[in-house]
Amino acid sequence: MNFLEERILKDGIVKEGNVLKVDSFLNHQMDIDLFNEMGREFKRRFEGIPINKIMTIESSGIGIACIVAQHFNVPVVFAKKSKSINIEGEMYVAEVESFTHKCKNQVIVSKKFINPEDKILIIDDFLANGCALQGLISIVNDAGASVAGIGIAIEKGFQDGGKIIRNLGYKLESLAIVKSMDSEKGTIEFTNRGEY
Ligand code: 5GP
Repeated sequence: MNFLEERILKDGIVKEGNVLKVDSFLNHQMDIDLFNEMGREFKRRFEGIPINKIMTIESSGIGIACIVAQHFNVPVVFAKKSKSINIEGEMYVAEVESFTHKCKNQVIVSKKFINPEDKILIIDDFLANGCALQGLISIVNDAGASVAGIGIAIEKGFQDGGKIIRNLGYKLESLAIVKSMDSEKGTIEFTNRGEY
């Protein structure tokens, strides 16, 4: 079992509706030593792949992305959630359905901050159905830039996102893949395989 899986078992709480609560160390209170270890591990997994920028999505990806970026010595750009305002022209826009809040958000990134020559590592806290990732990928594609890889802290392997993203051919690395979880028993099982 790796360091993140151990921490999830120790402090994660399984909620109804396939939600794993990790807000004591990941997305409310943040354990920076843990994030540092995640950064080291992503650096190892993406060794030798040219990466000049990290991209994530507001809000809980930002903390992780910033600490990970220190291991790659690159800047972080985060997609901002926005109300529908007239921003066409200056911004790349994607529609993202929120798994946890069950609503649709428009996310935007200024055209100033992604260029066709960028090789982008996408980082996020969770992968569930893959909507957030697909939004980020579409923004990178719109900019003519390339996705060098995708690093996820916790993938819920029993939802379809991982399969969809891997089938699209992206190098997707998740530090912990939850195979199953049970809110009544409070149990969590992991797998090493990205698809099963
Ligand atoms: P997706 O777009 O892949 O369906 O969901 C990814 C986003 O939803 C993540 O950025 C994360 O913020 C949120 N999310 C999905 N599942 C969970 C979960 O089980 N727990 C928490 N805390 N957030 C989740």
